[in-house]
Parts: sequence; structure tokens; C-alpha cells
Amino acid sequence: MKTLRLILGDQLNYQHSWYTQTSPDTLYVLMELRQETDYVVHHVQKVIGFFAAMYNFAAYLQKRGHRVVHLRINDPDNTQHLTKNLDWLIEQNNIECFEYQLPDEYRLDQQLTSYCQQLNIQSKAYDTEHFYTTREEVAQLFSSKKTYLMESFYRTMRKKHKVLMEGSEPAGGRWNFDSNNRKPFKGNPVQIPTHQFSHDYRDILEEIDRAGVRYLGTPLADRFPWPTTRKQSLEVLDFFLAFLFAHFGNYQDAMHTGHWSLFHSKLSFGLNTKMISPAEVVNAAVAYWEKHPERVSIEQCEGFVRQILGWREYMRGIYWAKMPDYQHLNFFGHERPLPDWFWTGETKMNCLKHAIGQSLNYAYAHHIQRLMITGNFALLAGIHPDEIDQWYLGIYIDAIEWVEITNTRGMSQYADGGIVGSKPYVSSANYVDKMSNYCGTCFYDKKAKIGEKACPFNSLYWHFYERNRALLEKNPRIGMIYQLLNKMSNAEKQAILEQAESHLSNLQNL
Ligand SMILES: Cc1cc2nc3c(=O)[nH]c(=O)nc-3n(C[C@H](O)[C@H](O)[C@H](O)COP(=O)(O)OP(=O)(O)OC[C@H]3O[C@@H](n4cnc5c(N)ncnc54)[C@H](O)[C@@H]3O)c2cc1C
Ligand code: SF4
Repeated sequence: MKTLRLILGDQLNYQHSWYTQTSPDTLYVLMELRQETDYVVHHVQKVIGFFAAMYNFAAYLQKRGHRVVHLRINDPDNTQHLTKNLDWLIEQNNIECFEYQLPDEYRLDQQLTSYCQQLNIQSKAYDTEHFYTTREEVAQLFSSKKTYLMESFYRTMRKKHKVLMEGSEPAGGRWNFDSNNRKPFKGNPVQIPTHQFSHDYRDILEEIDRAGVRYLGTPLADRFPWPTTRKQSLEVLDFFLAFLFAHFGNYQDAMHTGHWSLFHSKLSFGLNTKMISPAEVVNAAVAYWEKHPERVSIEQCEGFVRQILGWREYMRGIYWAKMPDYQHLNFFGHERPLPDWFWTGETKMNCLKHAIGQSLNYAYAHHIQRLMITGNFALLAGIHPDEIDQWYLGIYIDAIEWVEITNTRGMSQYADGGIVGSKPYVSSANYVDKMSNYCGTCFYDKKAKIGEKACPFNSLYWHFYERNRALLEKNPRIGMIYQLLNKMSNAEKQAILEQAESHLSNLQNL
């Protein structure tokens, strides 16, 4: 039977069972689409990265004897619309059966489901064979519970997949080594090895420009730094294990002006495009730890495994359990627009200048920069979650809605009212100063709450809690903060709140 098999840009799974056999009757289709480049303004490295990875994947399939159509962005036949392209490809090739892999994005899932409903040929959906879990697994696990606890989910995953287990007990005697893993980075080791690719993708950038795609950020097209094949993604993994893994947990929350990724793996693009799988990353990490216990401690290994086997799978489960309503949640009713400097990095706040600046340069910031610098500020300043989602979804190389929105609207903005996190992640300058060297050279004074040079985080922090008292005061994890707020003299509180109001009316110029 003549079959068309659709491969979406984030479905570049080299090991999928689809490709174990070749058939002249099976046509594989990949498409570069304005539908995808334009649903948000993306970082240009993200567009280049996806196009290059798709190109390399199409070439790989062709080399293995598969029939492939790869519609490029400026191809005259390309309607720029997924289902319109499918219509003419099906007709032109006398296709009798349409097959696709389950999309990870809700909007694409909807689009393909309704497309299949009106097709007058057979259709079939396959699993992507990438994740540990099915779409529904997290929801099923918590079906009888009021809340979704990541820690319970993670332990279930560890047991189910026998990862870091010694019989029925967790390796090292504990499930969680987070408390050992919160060190600031003070410059030791002095040299942090870096590994980046240096692909020349100026031709792809020219095509993107010719098509008139709007984008943000620095292209680095002549020395493109991200992996765009499975082999290169495995290289990133090997490099991480050999040179960075030993310090991963220790410094996973640290931030430093001299290093934009410190000991983080930079595996998210390879993982989210499915060029490599979470199981092979986790298994490789555990095997490395077992082989080199003198180099990599259990703290580092567990810290890393938790991110992939725990957080990544959990976020996906939350996404499928809570969409489409999740995308509209705004627990605090925040309404402010994002200040313009989020798109340029031009602010006097050193922490934000660095976190945004490196995001524009590399389409990357590590977790704590996303959570405790940009996310923290946006939450304290009461920015509308829609604006924040658009920014995160656009700027990061790894941003795909299922993992972006749950992290942004959920973990970072608490706009879901506590589905993902048990309390909002906010802090004053104190935390930023403890975990980074940003404050030392900042225009603002990290200690001051009031005055022209007072760090804006310091008054906005108290303003956030005061204005959301009715929503947060009963949260047992926040009780201490309200006790402190209640102990403040009226005069002091008033002065801090007035200072915060002044910052809020002047966000553009901070
Ligand atoms: C506001 C905000 C937005 C985010 N948006 C995205 C996004 O669009 N895409 C994305 O992949 N991650 C996102 N994250 C999670 C995390 O920040 C990135 O996965 C990580 O920074 C990627 O860099 P890395 O590969 O060097 O990760 P490492 O720190 O080396 O971690 C290893 C891997 O663990 C996984 N991981 C770690 N933390 C998380 C998490 N919270 N949720 C899911 N997976 C996790 C990633 O696959 C990552 O590659 C976001 C976090 C926040 C706070
Ligand atoms: S003083 Fe405030 S604004 Fe400046 S770097 Fe520190 S936290 Fe950021």
C-alpha cells in the first residue's frame, strides 16, 4: 500500500522502528514551514538548528535507501501550511495511507487529528518511541490525588525503570541529594572545558532571510554552536560525561559572568528534537558513574538523572493532563507587558543583562538563570504570563511548548496556582548574590531596599507577597515570609511598597 509518513521537525528519532525496513511504497516527508517559523518570533539559532537537523536527518534516511521528500522553506511547491502540503503530496503520489507520529505539541496534535478525520484514505498514528512515559502516565499515576507531586513521580520512575536502585532501595541510601547540590561557583576549577560545534550554516540563514522569516538573536551561522545530527548529539553527551558531569550537581544552581553554561550538559536541543533519547542519556550517565566512582559522586549522578527521568517526563505528563486550559492560566491575574529590554538585554540590572544577553547570543540560559533571574523578575513585576510564554518559547534553542509552558507558566510563574510547584520561586537580591557574581559589579546596591540605587528585586519581593496576601498567606511553605512581613513597622513597609510602586511604573528604565 502506498504510504506517506510525516516526520515533524522535533521527531528526528534515528532509532525509530519506522526506519528498520525500506520500502519503495513508503514516502517519508519533512517540511520547513512558515506555519512553524511564525507562530512566535523565534531565536534565529533555533530556526537554523531545526532546519539543519531536518536536512541532515533527510539525508541520513536517503542514504539508507528510504524515499524522502524534504520541502524547503523557499520551495515553490511549498504552501507553508502543513495540511495543504499533505493534500497535494497525497494526491500527486497516489497515497493510500497516511501515517504520522504523535506530536508533542497540543496544537499540532489537534491539527493532525482533525486532518485525519476528514481524509478519505486510511490513517494511523504511531508513538515517537522517545519518552520513558506515555502521554497519560503522569495523569494516571495521580488520578486519585489532588496534587501532582514530582518527587513521588520520580521515585516511581526510578523503581519502574530500575535506575540508580540497589534492590528496592535508592543507590547511595537517599532518593534526593538536592541539599548537597547548591554551591555557588567561586572559580575553582579555574578552567571549565567547553565544547561547541562550528558548523557553517550561512546558506541556511540566507534561505531564512530570503523567505522573510522574522527572528531575534545572534545567528552565529558561520560557527553554529549546536549539534545537528545524532552523532554530534552523542558527542555532546560524551563531552559532558568526561569533563562536566563530575561538577554538575555541585554547581547546578550557580551563575557566573564568565561562563554561560558552567557545568550544564547543553543536551536539551539534541533531546527535544529526539536525535538522542532520554533513556540513553540516563543509562550513559549511570554507567559512567558506576565506572568512575572516584570522579563522579552519587550526588552529581542523582542530580542529573532527576532532571531527565524526573522533571522532563513529569512536565510532559502535566502538559497532556492539563492542556488546553493550562495555556490560559493566570493565577495572580498579572497584566503588565514585558519591558522592551527583555528583547535587547539593555538594562542596568546586571543579572538580567547577563541572563538575557547570553540568551540572545546563544539561544541558551541554564535552568537557574531562567527560573531565578528572568522568571523571578517577571513574576515579581507582575508580567502577563502570555507575554512571558511568548518570550521563552521564542528565545531558547530547546523551547517546544510541552516543556516550555509547564516550566514557564507552571514552575516559574506559578500561574497554574500550584500544579507544578508548591510555592512561587521568587527571591530578593540575597539569593542572586549568594549564587552568582552578578551583584558585585551591578549599578544597583544589592543590600538596599529603598533609594535610587536600591536593587529592584528587594522591594518588588515584598510587594509581591503583600499584593498576593489573600492568595498565598495560607500556604504552609510561605508562612515564615508573612511572619516577617507582619513584623515590619508600618513606616518601613510603606516605604518599601512605595519604592516598589515606583519601580513598577518605571520598568522600562530599570
Ligand atoms: C522558565 C523556564 C523555561 C524553560 N523552558 C524550557 C524549554 O523550553 N525547553 C526545555 O527543554 N527546558 C526548559 N526549561 C528547563 C531547563 O531550564 C532546560 O531544560 C535546561 O536549562 C537545558 O539546558 P541543559 O541541556 O544544559 O540542561 P542540564 O542542566 O544539563 O539538564 C539536563 C537535561 O535535563 C532536562 N531538564 C532539566 N531541567 C528540566 C526541567 N525543569 N524540565 C524539563 N526538563 C529538564 C533537560 O532535558 C536537560 O537537557 C525551562 C526552565 C525554566 C525555569
Ligand atoms: S543587585 Fe539586584 S539587579 Fe543587580 S545583579 Fe544583584 S540582584 Fe540583580
